[in-house]
Amino acid sequence: MWRSMRARLRSLVRLTGLGLLAAALVSAGEPSEQPTAAADEPARPGDAGPRTVLVLLGTGTPVPDPKRWGPALAIVVGDRSYLVDAGSGVVRRAAAAARRHPALQPSKLQRLFLTHLHSDHTLGLPDLMFTGWLASRPTPLAVWGPPGTAAMARQIEAAWQDDIRVRIEGLEPRTTRNYRAVVHEIEAGRVYEDDRVRVDAIAVSHGSWPAAFGYRFQTADRTIVVSGDTRPSESLAKACDGCDVLVHEVYSAAGFARLSKPWQAYHRAFHTSTLELAALANQARPKLLVLVHQLFFGATAADLVREVREAGYAGPVVSGRDLEAF
Ligand SMILES: [Zn+2]
Ligand SMILES: [Zn+2]
Repeated sequence: MWRSMRARLRSLVRLTGLGLLAAALVSAGEPSEQPTAAADEPARPGDAGPRTVLVLLGTGTPVPDPKRWGPALAIVVGDRSYLVDAGSGVVRRAAAAARRHPALQPSKLQRLFLTHLHSDHTLGLPDLMFTGWLASRPTPLAVWGPPGTAAMARQIEAAWQDDIRVRIEGLEPRTTRNYRAVVHEIEAGRVYEDDRVRVDAIAVSHGSWPAAFGYRFQTADRTIVVSGDTRPSESLAKACDGCDVLVHEVYSAAGFARLSKPWQAYHRAFHTSTLELAALANQARPKLLVLVHQLFFGATAADLVREVREAGYAGPVVSGRDLEAF
């Protein structure tokens, strides 16, 4: 009952841009393991192509929270999926979401955009490479990511060389080498384009990483901007500029106050507080702000939303949960 209400509210936000009341109610929902029903929304009148849906696969961080798997999300456009990041459990989370979004079946996970190479965002890379192969992915995995991505993929292949040999030379009737990752190391700017989507990489500032990116996906019906891990980066506000959805990482400002000085210095350089995000979102003016990669430091999901509001952001904002679709 509550779930279907959440889905209807989300649908309202999407279809009409009506945000405030809906988002306040949405953000008050109880945590749920169930996927929501956003995929059941009808297409907008006059829509020609397939509808674009954002599916959160993992909304977690390095903290091994059993309800929040490693960072990963998917932009689904009809029968095609575009993944951002490969956190722990990405293929199984996608398989769960595939019940509603068939483009997330393991064999259809063919395109991956990595924001940066921190382990929480890449632990699922071997999973995508090899599980997709075993699920008869018809192509190698195409990966876009910062410098260092190609070396990582090569070393993953080397680490699993015995598995590859046994599967190809043993009794499995397996002939392809589609475990491979075809890597495109990127700079900021347009990195991908097909007949459904244009993808731009946005340079962001993530502490001492020499290269870290957010991504902007533009389709026929929506513009979705994903922050990746970052401290407040004006480049994201510019990339969004009234976009449909801004998916942004965040940490609790109240929780941060309780951290030791060295950890405060770390988080200030690498991540974005609720207060900083409120200011950034006021610049970016998304139709919906979705919090992911939430560092709670003892706060709750509702606390994070409240902190963002109290810091002066009045637009629609929700605390994202695994398997939610927007
Ligand atoms: Zn991270
Ligand atoms: Zn990171």
